[in-house]
Amino acid sequence: MKKLLGLVMSLAMVLSLGACSSSTEETGTYTPGTYTGEAQGYGGTVTVTITTDANQITEVTIEGPDETPTVGGAALEELINQIMEAQSTEIDGVSGATMTSNAVMSALESALNQAKGVEEEIAALTDGTYSATTTGYSWTGMISGDVTITDGKIADITITEEHESETGEIAQTAFDNMIPRIIENQSLATDVVTGATSTSNAIKDLVSQAIEQAGGKPSQWMTPVEKKTDTVTLEGYDVIVVGLGGSGILSYAAAAESGATVFGIEKAAKLGGQSATTTGPMVINSSAPAFEGVTFANPDDVYQTWIEYVESEEKADIIHEAVYNSGAYLDYYINNFGFEFEGMIMSFAKPEWSQFWTRYVGEDGTTNIFGPNKTYQFDRAMETAKAMNEKNDYMLELTAEELIMEDGAVKGVRAVSYDGTTYEIYGDSVILATGGYIGDAEMVEEYWGAMPNTVAATINDGAGIKMGLAAGGTTYMIGVDPMIHILQIPNMIKNNDLTADQKAILSALALVKGQTSVTVDGEALDPTLSEAMIPDYKYYVVYSEDEINSFKENGLPENFATATSMFMGQGGSFEVGTPVSDIDTILEVGMEYNNVLKADSIADLAEQIGCDEATLSATLGGNDTTYYAVICQGYTYGTVGGLDVDINMNVLTEDGTPIENLYAVGTDSMGVENIEGKPYTPWGGQAQSWTFVSGYLGGKAAAEYGLSK
Ligand SMILES: Cc1cc2nc3c(=O)[nH]c(=O)nc-3n(C[C@H](O)[C@H](O)[C@H](O)COP(=O)(O)OP(=O)(O)OC[C@H]3O[C@@H](n4cnc5c(N)ncnc54)[C@H](O)[C@@H]3O)c2cc1C
Repeated sequence: MKKLLGLVMSLAMVLSLGACSSSTEETGTYTPGTYTGEAQGYGGTVTVTITTDANQITEVTIEGPDETPTVGGAALEELINQIMEAQSTEIDGVSGATMTSNAVMSALESALNQAKGVEEEIAALTDGTYSATTTGYSWTGMISGDVTITDGKIADITITEEHESETGEIAQTAFDNMIPRIIENQSLATDVVTGATSTSNAIKDLVSQAIEQAGGKPSQWMTPVEKKTDTVTLEGYDVIVVGLGGSGILSYAAAAESGATVFGIEKAAKLGGQSATTTGPMVINSSAPAFEGVTFANPDDVYQTWIEYVESEEKADIIHEAVYNSGAYLDYYINNFGFEFEGMIMSFAKPEWSQFWTRYVGEDGTTNIFGPNKTYQFDRAMETAKAMNEKNDYMLELTAEELIMEDGAVKGVRAVSYDGTTYEIYGDSVILATGGYIGDAEMVEEYWGAMPNTVAATINDGAGIKMGLAAGGTTYMIGVDPMIHILQIPNMIKNNDLTADQKAILSALALVKGQTSVTVDGEALDPTLSEAMIPDYKYYVVYSEDEINSFKENGLPENFATATSMFMGQGGSFEVGTPVSDIDTILEVGMEYNNVLKADSIADLAEQIGCDEATLSATLGGNDTTYYAVICQGYTYGTVGGLDVDINMNVLTEDGTPIENLYAVGTDSMGVENIEGKPYTPWGGQAQSWTFVSGYLGGKAAAEYGLSK
């Protein structure tokens, strides 16, 4: 890779020199040509490419695919204009996007030096320990770290404060893997840990800031990291499982317990996937001691309600299994693989189903709703399952890319490890368990037509569904609306531009009930809608200037008392009735991050919302004044629809024929329990229950097929 880069650069030099000599005696500041510099931005690598003639920059492109679209992403255009105008790195940058701006300046400097033919002097680092703070994944606080430079090299990175763990365990994989890898590679071009992109980039940013403090230039620390190119072949498995989240581990376990030899492929640096962050599954008629004394919902009632909801008996056999045997499958995993649950929660659907779904026990003994720590349950199950046959194995940080097909038949899986090694893994049957397609913007656009905000793992990018389709499978109810249980402002402010208490007020302005709320069409929002049913996953809570002034003087009224987010609270609080003297600041920062619209008339507000003025005017009672509209948006948990499967979880072709050795479980096939045009069956715990039901059925069937070969 290094060599390739060198070649491309020298080729550029030769070409530009050629251009120089042919353009007679043209001499100037630059050797005309195209030059590229890179630096670490807010969300990842920022690349600046300039084209110059002899004296000026004639074109600039900036690529920052991982910069937050609403902040750093939007800044890129403005930065291009500034560079073209200044013709140098002496630009103002964009406020609110400091990290992106700094990265652009740094990358531009590198590109300009190349254009000038200046052999960039490597800026030596002054030894010492440098402290830095940045934003990562968490919406509850920033990350701080100390970076020690010894003998001009990155010698140590210590995280001194972090809030990432409050929002899930996945961040730990970045702390565990990024830090040693950056130190080993001495490069900010070290790949992020898959599944922990934001935390990985935050660590890189801490180092980038430290390099600057030490007198260095971050753009000089982008040495490409060489990848391996070899291919390793693994053979002789009865079952291969693609994705070791909930449903993958449960199918791996069921296959292993059947006596099959199993290989598991997991893209992330940890087991458990999204399933390790969930509350738990729905369960009916379990006989496990944990559920002693529980009054389970009546399975006949649940089954009948379900069939009526999906308006079809086409998948009645599967729904029957999911209802009548949900308890039995849970018991199987409790008894054989040590899963632990405690307590029951009521169903969202019917008050009489008062004990409907249960909660995983967390490692600290609590049954928390969101966040750490349930991975240990999945780790333990994998350990037990792996030990059932000495050939059983699995790998982390291994991304399945495609099925190996021979003569139209599935023979195995081709996967690439984070270090670049390709693995060709051959087996008799393959189970797809990659957790749906929320991370693939194109699929989301194709099946829903809009990209909602999400708290789900975008690592789940439809790989399994695409593999199933490539093997001849078809989809079932793939366009079911996403799972939505959370509402919040669209752009969480992760830095300290607002205090936690100010953030709580901003969120409350979006989450409050009983305030005029309008849809994207300017109509009044139906107050009986649940978040799962919000059209376009977004609406506006509208305040007149008088109301805002009243909040400033008299505080927030009583209906704000419960306007807090259960899932995405930011650690702050407020008291009803206490004057919000800083509400102007809160709204201004809200506007800066595109969470609040300010309009000086109904016409202006209609234009900003993009709706019909007359409709909005009717909704607002025709009162033409200054308005603040706080945006409230649904955050999805993931996708629902996927591949079509039968009761064995065999992937089906369009004419309903099973692909004999290909299976799909979990959210890769959950459309079979749902119907397009309605939210996913709103009982509560259905997706997790499906990981157990489909994991068991798919694992057993794949093992039986593999063992028969
Ligand atoms: C915050 C939150 C809370 C939730 N709470 C609940 C709840 O309480 N109850 C409920 O029923 N549902 C809940 N859900 C829904 C939840 O998404 C599903 O229940 C469940 O996780 C789906 O299991 P799965 O096995 O399909 O996906 P996952 O558990 O996410 O597993 C998919 C795995 O595949 C891996 N993978 C993806 N692509 C590849 C590839 N190419 N190669 C190799 N590996 C790959 C991923 O890294 C991941 O480990 C919640 C979701 C969220 C976001």
